[in-house]
Amino acid sequence: MEVFVTIERALEIARQTPLSFSTEQTPLNKAHNRILSEDLISKVNDPPFDNSAMDGWAVRNRDPTRVEVGITAAGAPPSEIKEGEAIRIMTGAPIPKGADAIVMIEDGINGKANPNFIRKKGENFCQGDTILRRGQLMTPPTISLAASMGHPTIPTRSQLKVAVVSTGDELISPGKNLMEGQLYESNSYGLCALLEKIGCEPILHDVVEDNIEDLRNTLNSLDCDVILTSGGVSMGEFDYVRKLMEEEGELHFWKVAMRPGGPPLFGMWNNTPLFGLPGNPVSSHLVFTLLVAPWLSPEIPLVKNVKVLMKDSVKGAPGKVCFRRISISLENGELVGTTHTHQGSGNIHSMVAHNGLTYLPPNTDANPGDKISALWLQ
Ligand code: AMP
Ligand code: MG
Repeated sequence: MEVFVTIERALEIARQTPLSFSTEQTPLNKAHNRILSEDLISKVNDPPFDNSAMDGWAVRNRDPTRVEVGITAAGAPPSEIKEGEAIRIMTGAPIPKGADAIVMIEDGINGKANPNFIRKKGENFCQGDTILRRGQLMTPPTISLAASMGHPTIPTRSQLKVAVVSTGDELISPGKNLMEGQLYESNSYGLCALLEKIGCEPILHDVVEDNIEDLRNTLNSLDCDVILTSGGVSMGEFDYVRKLMEEEGELHFWKVAMRPGGPPLFGMWNNTPLFGLPGNPVSSHLVFTLLVAPWLSPEIPLVKNVKVLMKDSVKGAPGKVCFRRISISLENGELVGTTHTHQGSGNIHSMVAHNGLTYLPPNTDANPGDKISALWLQ
């Protein structure tokens, strides 16, 4: 077990625990954010036939004048023209035999003909070509591309089932009344949404009280690929996730040199990998974004590395990389960073009021005018 590791080392340790996937066929309308598990070959040429890129006339380029002899629309069978003839043609309609150029409707039938307004069969890709590779993230255009290749379903990596378990005696589900000392449980909802965002299948569990038997029973009852807990990993007397993992699980690391989000842990509970996130709402979101997501789903980055010119000052942290929430915006062609709200790790509003994070190396503050590394939340 390693204690107090860098962010890079934490990720390296997590990645030593392999995740196992199977392949399943997924219909295209459910394929968003899925990962292709095999190369995908086109079943057709794209386009499948020569067709018009414009509404206009299909003509012979060499004819000086033309007379209209017919009309053709998308979906019609190809017609034919002879010398001096033109056919009114709609975008996507097959090019009549004998035609080699299109005149745009705006230019009139004897206007300038253009051969480039014909979209040639197979000019985009051909039947039998490998167009998408294994490991490809299915984005909206990728899904449309797979459809135009003729695939109703695609082979995808199975989704990881991730159980989300919040711990804490003080936590009450929204909708119920709060008593003195209680607050609404919020982490699990955000974490489930984050899991969906990176293509996993979240399984939301009820809150577990700070009690080692309940926690043990809950962890034993889960049927999932990965366990994500929130809370109970710090130095407190009642931080039972840490205690249980220390005594009965197998810890691989505990504590990461980052602020917020210092006390996460990672290890195995029986045969299931378990990531223990800190309970403070900002901390749990950040640890997920910076450590859990790159481990579970490196294909879907939740942050983009940028450089920003700071307009406000922010404090770094002794011995830790410091992730202050900042707003990143474009000003005179340059990315600038500003801060708007209280930066406490309990203030989830700071993650909503801002769209980025500083990446301040240990023991480094940022002052107005400094150009610093930052992460743009995606
Ligand atoms: P812990 O990590 O359990 O020591 O909790 C740290 C702080 O985060 C405490 O103030 C908790 O009340 C709060 N907290 C823990 N879990 C959650 C949660 N699921 N939702 C909202 N706040 C939480
Ligand atoms: Mg707690």
